[in-house]
Amino acid sequence: MDIWDKKKRSAVMAKIRSKDTKPEIVLRKSLFAKGYRYRINDKRLPGKPDIVLPKCKTVIFVNGCFWHGHESCRANHIPKANREFWMEKIRRNKQRDQKVKEQLRLAGWQVVTVWECELKKKNIPQTIDKIIRVLENNAPRILTVYEECDDMIIKVAEEIIGYESDE
Ligand SMILES: [Zn+2]
Repeated sequence: MDIWDKKKRSAVMAKIRSKDTKPEIVLRKSLFAKGYRYRINDKRLPGKPDIVLPKCKTVIFVNGCFWHGHESCRANHIPKANREFWMEKIRRNKQRDQKVKEQLRLAGWQVVTVWECELKKKNIPQTIDKIIRVLENNAPRILTVYEECDDMIIKVAEEIIGYESDE
């Protein structure tokens, strides 16, 4: 039984969806520490990718397992209440994801999807390796390695985004 009515459930779920969710920050910090530079939430690209690495011509989507319907994933547990509603919503999200991916690929972008469950603490090293293998196939990376300094890293990255003008 669902403890919330439909409206409240939507509000709660919307909160979960908010920007700068932790797994995404973890990923960004790791990439930054390895010398990769990126833009975030680039509105000019289809689907507003979470992370855009212009030099590698790669975009990364960090997908919530619930919202994007990560198949056979434990985190993709659909509430029993309003089941039809959620299934339809997720189905539409998946459809949109697919369309966006196609558009990006046609425009020459390499598309990487990272699932939230892949950014759980114990999975992070493996996931980062996987992403970096993809990135290294595509372009040389910046060799500078910055020291990791918790909150600072994110700030620095955002500043670099400003004067990294590709194309
Ligand atoms: Zn998952």
